[in-house]
Amino acid sequence: MRIGIDLDNTLADYGNVVGQMCRVHGVETGGGDPKLALRAYLRAAGREAEWTALQGELYGPLMEGAEPFPGAVNFLISAAAAGADCIVVSHRTPRPIAGQAHDLHAAARAWIKGHLPPGLEVHLAETKQEKLSRIGKLRVDVFIDDLPELLGAAGFPAGVAKVLFDPRGEHPEQPGVERFRTWAEIAARLLG
Ligand SMILES: [Mg+2]
Repeated sequence: MRIGIDLDNTLADYGNVVGQMCRVHGVETGGGDPKLALRAYLRAAGREAEWTALQGELYGPLMEGAEPFPGAVNFLISAAAAGADCIVVSHRTPRPIAGQAHDLHAAARAWIKGHLPPGLEVHLAETKQEKLSRIGKLRVDVFIDDLPELLGAAGFPAGVAKVLFDPRGEHPEQPGVERFRTWAEIAARLLG
């Protein structure tokens, strides 16, 4: 089995980093998604540009503060032990849209090297379309992503099973998409 997996917010959990940003800005998250709380706060304050620049920091130098989601590393190890190939396919611009010109692809590769088991195949696409076509060319059996819009995209390759990683349980059911809140559940479904 070949398993394609998204990187940001699927393997890499930015909760701690964004939570820290919220504390710095005095933003109350109310137990919700800290990223949405921070974005709403900056937008409401007319500081949208700052939000865009912050994302360049988040996916660049601050990425080293991100942690693998609980169970994600175990999943990769168990998959390899079961003879499955795990392939990371991420969509990131090479440089941030705003702010300092951090190398976002280098940050992603460094994080993967530091946090995930060695030997993973990694593909960093520059656009969503490129990511979709890469998923098709890699002939994966299943793709795991945190974005319903990626799995539901018109260009999503036919014949690839869709798994939505939805740790907050915030997305509605989507036809043809299996939805899980934890990596343990994904492991039980795909590797069990
Ligand atoms: Mg993602």
